[in-house]
Amino acid sequence: MGVVVAVDGPAGSGKSSVSREAAVRLGYAFLDTGAAYRALAWAVLREGRDPERAEDVEQVLASFDLATADDPAERWVRVGEVDVTEAIRTPEVTAAVSGVARVPGVRARLNEGFRARLAAAEPGVVVEGRDITTVVAPDARVRVLLTARPEVRAARRARELPDEDHGAVAASIAERDARDSRVVDFLEAADGVSTLDSSDLDFDGTVEALVRMVQHAADPGLEPVR
Ligand code: C5P
Repeated sequence: MGVVVAVDGPAGSGKSSVSREAAVRLGYAFLDTGAAYRALAWAVLREGRDPERAEDVEQVLASFDLATADDPAERWVRVGEVDVTEAIRTPEVTAAVSGVARVPGVRARLNEGFRARLAAAEPGVVVEGRDITTVVAPDARVRVLLTARPEVRAARRARELPDEDHGAVAASIAERDARDSRVVDFLEAADGVSTLDSSDLDFDGTVEALVRMVQHAADPGLEPVR
């Protein structure tokens, strides 16, 4: 089994873009687990089902056929024959995904798929998502909680969504954190998980810090990361 780098964190912490770029620099595969939950939410909506009803979600899950890119330089996500790379980022899907992610059968099935991908990755993989350091890959070589202060996270999301009202973006992040934290605790680092606070780092600095954490884990003789 290759090196598994597990990255958790709340919405707007930058975990997705930072993890992807760290995977590129390390020459590792990349697994965005949120994309799997989003793709399932998309499939539930496409079939006209209710994402808040566990039975509806489980029925869609039964024939859910997901494929995602391994290479961090690619970003495609497919459900069956349909490319949903862009479609899973719409506000409708974002609003539906917490409901889908609450269904225990969904988490069990998706986690099984994630673990198979991690086991197959050589020489390593960066995997990100809200329960990765605790539930999916508690034995990962490197486990990192990527955080940022709430106002920093809201400001970053607002920059990504310039057409939306800043207050509304902040409120939507706070609401999604609250909903998701009923399912998994991703705001506090679990035992053995290192916290990387990106509040005062830029994108490059955050990637660099994560890469150094991985290099340090592989060779503890290297300078530790502060
Ligand atoms: O990371 P991203 O914003 O794409 O995740 C979308 C949603 O998927 C999260 O808000 C959460 O509800 C769910 N999710 C999860 N567990 C993961 C990854 C994502 O519950 N490992």
